Amino acid sequence: LDENLSKAQRYLAHFAENGVMNHINGEAVAALDGTTFETISPVDLKPLAKVAHGKAADIDRAAQAAREAFPAWAAISGEQRKKLLHKIADAIEARAEEIAFVECMDTGQALKFMAKAALRGAENFRFFADRAPEARDGKSLRTQGQVNLTTRVPIGPVGIITPWNTPFMLSTWKIAPALAAGCTVVHKPAEFSPLTARLLIEIAEEAGLPKGVWNLVNGFGEEAGKALTEHPAIKAIGFVGESRTGSAIMRQGADTLKRVHFELGGKNPVIVFADADLDRAADAAVFMIYSLNGERCTSSSRLLVEESVYDRFTSLVAEKAGRIKVGHPLDPETVVGPLVHPVHEKKVLDYIEIGKSEGATVAAGGTRFNGPGGGCYVSPTLFTGATNAMRIAQEEIFGPVLTAIPFKDEAEALSIANDIQYGLTGYLWTSDVTRAFRFTDALDAGMIWVNSENIRHLPTPFGGTKSSGIGRDGGDWSFDFYMETKNVAFAT
Ligand code: NAD
Repeated sequence: LDENLSKAQRYLAHFAENGVMNHINGEAVAALDGTTFETISPVDLKPLAKVAHGKAADIDRAAQAAREAFPAWAAISGEQRKKLLHKIADAIEARAEEIAFVECMDTGQALKFMAKAALRGAENFRFFADRAPEARDGKSLRTQGQVNLTTRVPIGPVGIITPWNTPFMLSTWKIAPALAAGCTVVHKPAEFSPLTARLLIEIAEEAGLPKGVWNLVNGFGEEAGKALTEHPAIKAIGFVGESRTGSAIMRQGADTLKRVHFELGGKNPVIVFADADLDRAADAAVFMIYSLNGERCTSSSRLLVEESVYDRFTSLVAEKAGRIKVGHPLDPETVVGPLVHPVHEKKVLDYIEIGKSEGATVAAGGTRFNGPGGGCYVSPTLFTGATNAMRIAQEEIFGPVLTAIPFKDEAEALSIANDIQYGLTGYLWTSDVTRAFRFTDALDAGMIWVNSENIRHLPTPFGGTKSSGIGRDGGDWSFDFYMETKNVAFAT
């Protein structure tokens, strides 16, 4: 840990000295009105850096830069874009340790996972780089007297708004396909964790991305975020964040008819039948709620267990939760680090009190944790004896808190699983193949894993139903969002 701490200090020094600047038209710039806000580390609540406090005027400059850069960027070949995006991926890999360390200190998420998240950022660039040459391909459709050629063209400058959880990985997941499609970008990262977005744009330009193709404006959602969604030069908004922010963005973008893509909240069920491999299921359930501090849209925050094995299974989960290492995010053994910010820590602790007052039983955790640095640590928590009507079963807590509910049969399991406003993911554990087909067919969620935790295969569609989102990401789904489809009919 000591060695990691001194490395982190080195990596963070230039942020402490120079602050986190915006980046517009190839230049690091302060906010136009010269104001800043502070970002703190959730480990010890000490300031990490002063951040440029962008507002509507800064967004306007960034959107103009993205508009001016668009024609040239859209005109270069897919092959050239592919090469450039691979160079960005190479540069991310070369600085992966720095990215991971900075991310840990800014978000509180554990090095164990952030080291992989930095490399996944490079993988996202490679994935979309390889698809760039075919992004414009369409098909031909013919009828008597006519040949139709369908092609795709990039939609124009786009806005990308990202949340504070795994901010580096998520930013690459949204920005790489936009660039591969030929769009230019204005990125507004989350105010709680702005550091790695700054590293990312530096890396991209050092790798050769032309100026103005990618611009960065830091600031708050209600100011910079809102201005971005309202700007007439911005043709589409790719957004990852809370469901109610998605609604606000839809309203804000209505006057300029923004195309929107939303990856929103989740309250995802893990459904365990008595015939499942219970040990494996318990490991996966524990991993899916407590890794990344439970600050993960796809976390399995509702545990539905068949009545006959409910006590046995929840005891297993409680025992495993009790053994999880909570600690400094840079300690290589840590699984749960401090939550991102005192405001969020309070929200999670308030939900724990709500769960108690609703009559659920605390089977593990249920308290603050006195971790190194004295920051925003919360013990991995399991509530048992809950019902699906409780707020802890219905609302997204976004922390290391799991709510376990018993069910008596398949019909009841399905009804509880679907009785929620969200539909992002589901995790089904059963050894009955027919039931797996039947159940997953009826489960209302965008992504379902059977007998597995969340293991991503990048070409598959990513996204949710109901309040969990609009649209899908991954492969061609991303290109469909960032591009217009155009048909030309030729008389023959
Ligand atoms: P948030 O909605 O509060 O903020 C997300 C971003 O939106 C931030 O950059 C914020 O500044 C900006 N924003 C806020 N108000 C805005 C407005 N009116 N106009 C424009 N921008 C605005 O979300 P958060 O708390 O940062 O992140 C946690 C949420 O993100 C959780 O709900 C989580 O489930 C969700 N999430 C979803 C996915 C997914 O893929 N479905 C992935 C990660 C996180």
